[in-house]
Amino acid sequence: MVETHTYDVVIVGAGGAGLMAALNASQIANVAVVSKLHPMRSHTGAAQGGIGAALGNLEEDHWEWHAYDSVKGSDYLGDQDAIEFMCREAVQAVYDLEHYGLPFSRSTDGRIAQRPFGGHTNNQTGKPIRRSCYAADRTGHMILQTLYQQCLKNGILFYDEFLVLDVLVDGGTCYGIVALELATSVIHVFHAKAVIFATGGHGRMWEITSNAYAYTGDGVAAVVRRGLPAEDMEFFQFHPTGIYKLGILITEAVRGEGGILINDQGQRFMEKYAPRIKDLASRDVVSRAMYLEMKAGRGIGGQNYLLLDARPDTVNRYAEADGRTRPDGTPYRVTAEEILSKIPDIVDFCRTYLGVDPAVQPIPVQPTAHYAMGGIPTDIYGRVIVDESNRVLPGLYAVGECACVSVHGANRLGTNSLVDLVVFGKHAGLHAAGYARDADLVPLPPQPESFALQQLASLRAGDGAEQAARIGKELRSLMFDHVGVFRTAEGLRQVVGALEDLRERYHHIRVQDTGTTFNQELQSAWELGNLLDLAYITAVAAEARTESRGAHAREDFPHRDDVHWLKHSLAWLEGDAIRLGYKPVVITSYPPRERTY
Ligand SMILES: Cc1cc2nc3c(=O)[nH]c(=O)nc-3n(C[C@H](O)[C@H](O)[C@H](O)COP(=O)(O)OP(=O)(O)OC[C@H]3O[C@@H](n4cnc5c(N)ncnc54)[C@H](O)[C@@H]3O)c2cc1C
Repeated sequence: MVETHTYDVVIVGAGGAGLMAALNASQIANVAVVSKLHPMRSHTGAAQGGIGAALGNLEEDHWEWHAYDSVKGSDYLGDQDAIEFMCREAVQAVYDLEHYGLPFSRSTDGRIAQRPFGGHTNNQTGKPIRRSCYAADRTGHMILQTLYQQCLKNGILFYDEFLVLDVLVDGGTCYGIVALELATSVIHVFHAKAVIFATGGHGRMWEITSNAYAYTGDGVAAVVRRGLPAEDMEFFQFHPTGIYKLGILITEAVRGEGGILINDQGQRFMEKYAPRIKDLASRDVVSRAMYLEMKAGRGIGGQNYLLLDARPDTVNRYAEADGRTRPDGTPYRVTAEEILSKIPDIVDFCRTYLGVDPAVQPIPVQPTAHYAMGGIPTDIYGRVIVDESNRVLPGLYAVGECACVSVHGANRLGTNSLVDLVVFGKHAGLHAAGYARDADLVPLPPQPESFALQQLASLRAGDGAEQAARIGKELRSLMFDHVGVFRTAEGLRQVVGALEDLRERYHHIRVQDTGTTFNQELQSAWELGNLLDLAYITAVAAEARTESRGAHAREDFPHRDDVHWLKHSLAWLEGDAIRLGYKPVVITSYPPRERTY
């Protein structure tokens, strides 16, 4: 049985990007949000450190400084028109959130508090600037709560725990999606004038990751299976400070509040790699420095981790050495109580998962797979782009981590994802609703669900010679070992070959559970298929890019090569092969320069 629903705009995903799009689209269109998770379980709720905007509440700041930092952070691969748009709009976006009721932390005079974050600087001095607006270390949680409340207040309809399997595109127009209702296994067709994908990231293909279990790239995979390209997939960010072995994130805000990375010899090694900005260099720079330290045998006890020291004595000693001051010009000093009040969840994580109290002991950390810079190519209105000349596909939109605008280029700055969600979520929502107002509904063909059903059926038809869990495990360790912080031609070639093999073996898995109520075996097999497709694209695009830029660091090509590689990759999955194309980077105000921190 198939149920059909009709809306002007259907949004896939109920994280920050999806909710923001829904809220804005609902001003003029009839909207439904379809989400595999309950909205409050979306990964946006895990965002800790903050949302960046040049409010200038505690010191001089300008959106142009934010834009320059983002361009530089992106290693000049970000499209500068989109970055300028985002940083200019970020200021109003934060006030919008405030007016929706978001309980931001406050400065002593009652304004939205701001703290330093990696790669955000005063452009005149090169020193860290207070630009990240936050609600303790629960910023994403508060964004999600606030936006969900607003959506409910506006009567937006939610289809929770519906797994979207396919996007309906025909004759160059998008007209809906196909979803599986997880509680019943009923198939639903959502017939719509416009569809907005806001499905988040795909970090679960790496062994050590900060990402939620739901981060399996479903939206990007659905789109590429319909013959559309994915952009810049070779760029995936490793965050420097995941809890050792677990990958759970320790926000950069810990370093923003004065925490220091230390090697086995007790040295603050970032002084060597980023003399001006030290522990607050951009994430690609810090993760690489950590790897180099560990490779040189300076990991703690010779092992693959380092220490993040946020004990008040350490913070105060280094703050004095750096000449760091409070907003009123007095020397920066913290107490254990202040640390606890600014990063309460982190303190809790450390106590729960490590038995470590960060006020008393340093935290063992290692780089953890964190954020997808690549994804579904879009313009600043979220319209999906389908070729090298930026042609759009009417009716199809993407926004948030699953999209590539591209504002993050080769490396995203901390706090810029939440900005991306709110700014581009708003504009995608408004644009899709405007488009739906003027467009006609494309009639549904007979059995629009057939492509999705065929794929589901094949998961039950394998000979059972392979197990999904084993394939998933091999995938994660391959990606972590060879498509991580550093990459080589040899390692990438090995992964591409192994992925061809894993994708073939995947055809032999057989979902044994025939139940129709929350069939988790079926869901996780489906999600594994998505990860395999996206891992394959990632490895092929990474092998082709013979330079080092941002998060893509090749040991065999250690330098950035603007002559040949100042361009975005587009990858099409054509059966079992991948075709790569390229499109230029938009440069407006900031010609590429060498990056130093
Ligand atoms: C631990 C952690 C901390 C972070 N901290 C920060 C920070 O401080 N500042 C910052 O800027 N960024 C931070 N980030 C990054 C940022 O939080 C994410 O990039 C961002 O929240 C993603 O939002 P989104 O709306 O795109 O996706 P999500 O919030 O993940 O939402 C995705 C939605 O898509 C739905 N979905 C997915 N697949 C399907 C499907 N097949 N069918 C139906 N629905 C589907 C899910 O149910 C979910 O509702 C952090 C990330 C992590 C992992």
